[in-house]
Amino acid sequence: MKSDTIISVSHISKIYRSEEMETIALDDISFTIEKGEFVAIMGPSGSGKSTLMHILGALDLPTSGEYILDGKKVSELSDDDLADIRNQKIGFIFQAFNLLPRTTTMENVMLPMVYASIPKADREARAKKYLEMVGLGHRLHHTSNQISGGQQQRVAIARGLAMNPAILLADEPTGNIASNQAEEIMGIFQHLNDEGHTVVMITHEPDIAAHAKRTIHVRDGKVVSDEKNKRQHRAKYEQVEQ
Ligand code: ADP
Ligand code: MG
Repeated sequence: MKSDTIISVSHISKIYRSEEMETIALDDISFTIEKGEFVAIMGPSGSGKSTLMHILGALDLPTSGEYILDGKKVSELSDDDLADIRNQKIGFIFQAFNLLPRTTTMENVMLPMVYASIPKADREARAKKYLEMVGLGHRLHHTSNQISGGQQQRVAIARGLAMNPAILLADEPTGNIASNQAEEIMGIFQHLNDEGHTVVMITHEPDIAAHAKRTIHVRDGKVVSDEKNKRQHRAKYEQVEQ
């Protein structure tokens, strides 16, 4: 394994078992991702994308196979180590947002920083900065249930960015967003990637995948293609006032 490999999955499979049945969600998946890559993962609904993303985010373990995250075997890490890695190293943007209800956008974005014991003034400044970055500077004190689905998605994006993570994992980050806003979000992702952050993004939209530098296609839990994008579609990035 090269020293700049940040993600290495080797022959991973994931089988969900219940009393009645067995679902093979991932079937012998192998790839590596280097530091500073921007990878899109594409595939039809039910192909295993979210399952894969949860494993990459160390939120779940594969049934078999090995996952090495930044040089460490994830299966051998303690729960405390895993919690630290998830908090410090990985920004996770969930498909279902996972925002706290009846909690303001600011508080939602500050939550990972609370876990990281970042001082309050700092937390507030950073939460405000990232909420402005995603176009929600006018909704800092609205609660999750007082904003639209697209706005909730943008809060989830701000929260994923708040810890300035080395790896950003995003599951359909533009799924609920109008196309002009999706383009802005891609501008933010590309800006982070230009600064050296590794970005892994699930999408089923070819227009969105075109913003990445590489695309991995999955189908029925298997990798069916893994190619460099011939041309990266660049989105505009405008630095917000702080
Ligand atoms: P995608 O994100 O590509 O739509 P998922 O990773 O969510 O796909 O799901 C892959 C397959 O695994 C699907 O067939 C889905 O029904 C199944 N699956 C996902 N989560 C579970 C679970 N917790 N228990 C049983 N089956 C599951
Ligand atoms: Mg999914």
